[in-house]
Amino acid sequence: SPTVTIIGAGLAGCEAAHQVARRGFKVRLFEMRPAVSTDVHNGGRLADLVCSNSLRSDDPFHPVGLIKREMAGWDSLIIGAARAAAVPAGSALAVDREGFSQGVSQAIEGNANIELVREEVTAIPDGPVILAAGPLCSEALSRDLYRFVDDRALYFYDAIAPVIEYDSLDHDVVYLKSRYDKGEGADYLNIPLDKETYERFHQALVTGERVEAKNHEKLIFFEGCLPVEIMADRGVDTLRFGPMKPVGLEDPRTGKQPYAVIQLRQDNFAKSHWNMVGFQTQLKWGEQKRVFQMLPGLERARFVRYGMIHRNTYVDSSKHLLPTLQFRRRPDLFLAGQISGVEGYVESAAAGLMAGVNMARFLAGETPDPFPATTAMGALAHYVSFQGHAKLDPTNINFGLLPPLARKGRMKRREKRAAMVHRAVADMIAFAHARGLSEFAMPDYDA
Ligand code: FAD
Repeated sequence: SPTVTIIGAGLAGCEAAHQVARRGFKVRLFEMRPAVSTDVHNGGRLADLVCSNSLRSDDPFHPVGLIKREMAGWDSLIIGAARAAAVPAGSALAVDREGFSQGVSQAIEGNANIELVREEVTAIPDGPVILAAGPLCSEALSRDLYRFVDDRALYFYDAIAPVIEYDSLDHDVVYLKSRYDKGEGADYLNIPLDKETYERFHQALVTGERVEAKNHEKLIFFEGCLPVEIMADRGVDTLRFGPMKPVGLEDPRTGKQPYAVIQLRQDNFAKSHWNMVGFQTQLKWGEQKRVFQMLPGLERARFVRYGMIHRNTYVDSSKHLLPTLQFRRRPDLFLAGQISGVEGYVESAAAGLMAGVNMARFLAGETPDPFPATTAMGALAHYVSFQGHAKLDPTNINFGLLPPLARKGRMKRREKRAAMVHRAVADMIAFAHARGLSEFAMPDYDA
């Protein structure tokens, strides 16, 4: 059978390569870095996490906890490598980004069915292809893709949060604690703010100088990843009810809850780098230094990396894809990852997983079939390919994407979520069993 070309060794591309290869097919996985770089990736690392080091909630009854477990059932490379490189983060799954990327690289480079080619692909090749070139798809390939779909480029902006050196923090001010003491121990560093400091900081955020968009286009942000100063623009208290929420974070030295809190999350195994949680920003670098150093405990902060904004390219999949992630016009061409209209590390990898599984079915002469719409993975694929969108807005996984429950009558929110999760688990197991995966199981649920 022909070799599958996979474009982009990011989260979606590595996952797709692993899924195709473990079904016995050969893969040529193209990655343009380090020769051709992007503004946000680090050197030549595979599956590079460009911003936060968190794969978000690990609660099995949270939609992103559910999707991780569905993926684990399908032997996900990305979820396996993330668990192996996990760092403490309360009830979230966060990783040492270098350890994570190394784990993925070893699996890819050690796989006899995968050939990693460090080259830019400048046009969509013939033959079986999975296009997973990400939101920063190179210019030449983007042009060819837009020619193929005969559509204007869609885009939105994403922002990155700063990372700070541990040694530069004032440890008399910051304190260790997880919200409501969830998780194994105290995993977050917290910066307590009183009312006056908070208000001064808010004022500095809304008046700080910001970076503008390229080519004077309109700055459209993804609602789930708004820059901190845009949230601040919405009102003086917006941040206190958002990323600076103090509930469950009493200062252990006083026993009191501060007026507002900024959390820092461990960013590497060595605990030398800490990420400002929810502080993605479009402030100019000099302004970030000035404004963030106003915070108590950060007066002498050294920044490993400043925050920044970046343009994300995606395709309006609702016009072009089937829920199997195949192009309607060309069934041997699949689209996966952020460029297909999903948003987030885990969601991108999930799209790669579905494209990989279905590509293998396509090559085996079987009919690729969509993952059930009642599962978290399937719901994403159905959402992006749904033909009723006026315009596709990229999305994270959430329970609103899953079809409503058949059971009528009033249910508490928790009950409803649990029922949706149990339905997803049962339907995913049935789907896998029907495809001959008799061993298929999902961790953490007794289905
Ligand atoms: P990527 O991981 O970007 O992988 C695509 C790969 O393709 C890259 O390695 C790239 O070098 C390569 N490539 C591109 N063009 C070519 C070509 N022509 N030939 C060969 N190789 C090519 N998600 C979160 O969950 N949390 C976050 O904090 C977060 N922050 C983000 C911040 C920014 C600035 C951006 C842009 C996105 C962010 N995302 C975040 C969204 C998304 O989850 C990530 O972009 C994720 O990496 C997408 O996975 P992917 O596999 O689709 O793309």
